Amino acid sequence: MSLPQTLPIVNDSHQNLLAMTSIEISNLVAQLEWPAFRAKQILQWLYQHRAKKISLMSNLSKKDRERLQSISMIDRAKAPTVVNSQDGTRKLLFSLENGLAIESVLIPDDPRLTLCISTQVGCTVDCSFCLTGQMGLKRNLKAHEIVEQVLTAQDLLAEGERITSLVFMGMGEPLANVDAVTEAVTRLTNTQWGLGIPARRITISTAGFAPRLKAVAGLGINLAVSLNASTNAQRDHLMPMMNKLHPLPELLEACRAYPLDPNRRLTFEYVLLSGENDSPDDAKRLIHLLHGIQCKINLIPFNEFPGSPFRRPSDAAIENFQAILRQGQYDVFLRKSRGRDILGACGQLGNIPT
Ligand code: SAH
Ligand code: SF4
Repeated sequence: MSLPQTLPIVNDSHQNLLAMTSIEISNLVAQLEWPAFRAKQILQWLYQHRAKKISLMSNLSKKDRERLQSISMIDRAKAPTVVNSQDGTRKLLFSLENGLAIESVLIPDDPRLTLCISTQVGCTVDCSFCLTGQMGLKRNLKAHEIVEQVLTAQDLLAEGERITSLVFMGMGEPLANVDAVTEAVTRLTNTQWGLGIPARRITISTAGFAPRLKAVAGLGINLAVSLNASTNAQRDHLMPMMNKLHPLPELLEACRAYPLDPNRRLTFEYVLLSGENDSPDDAKRLIHLLHGIQCKINLIPFNEFPGSPFRRPSDAAIENFQAILRQGQYDVFLRKSRGRDILGACGQLGNIPT
């Protein structure tokens, strides 16, 4: 049977099923004059069975598989290079076209296993303490490139291992690529045909795109805001582009307006940089700034990288900072630096030889 002339789906090239939304796959199924439930079957093969070939779709007849193969394919990301850290952290280096590359990091913290994924090649934003920021933006990732980091990581897991949380804290600013991130979250959370990861297990971290926080609220996932400074001037210095676009007061106002269920809270991340933002006065200002916001605070001692002028504070300074915030009745966590030996920790992604 040949397809009717009106179909836009047949070119010389085969379409990548992973690059299509669920609606586009439903349209494809309708155009093929197949029953509607076939769309769900195809999606389940892509996301729940992680099939790499259409020929594996065993609940489609051989004839239907051949029909699908004649117009489409499953073009999964090339197998990444895996770099193992001494602490069990695994960095996955994915090669893209034109020498571009992205990284994801699998971080075990028994009994949890967190996958940290990228949303851009490089980053739109230019934070002065971040290696990724120094690369500039090469390009946004597409929704399927975001989801494939998770599919591939799952392929690599050992028997019995399971990803328990997913954080959008790799390369890039997720809210600078909000459409692709939204589509990716849909595929990651959908329980009917997607990966079925609970939204509560997913966190998006933003450098502070204040007007776009609402987009995250709509997805039901957790929001982390990288504050990193206790005054507007300090933030101008550390995160020049972001703070010019949306200065600290505007960001805090958006955080106060953020709709939160009573049992949920925002996370504020704060990179501790020696002599820059780690003084007792900074901690006291922070207590005041965040007053009244349902939140917890994650302190991230600076992860050093070659060429950076910043330094990690002493353990004593870090502990003191944490203690002052705790006196202010905040829940404060110290982010362990994982994978530092393979430049896989926060802010160390991007040293990719091209
Ligand atoms: N672009 C997003 C998410 C990726 S960065 C954001 O900025 O939130 C993830 C976290 O790493 C952010 O909280 C950022 O402030 C932090 N970070 C960046 N560079 C770092 C470094 N060198 N050491 C420690 N944390 C860093
Ligand atoms: Fe981009 Fe986040 Fe790095 Fe800033 S900290 S440059 S927003 S990845």
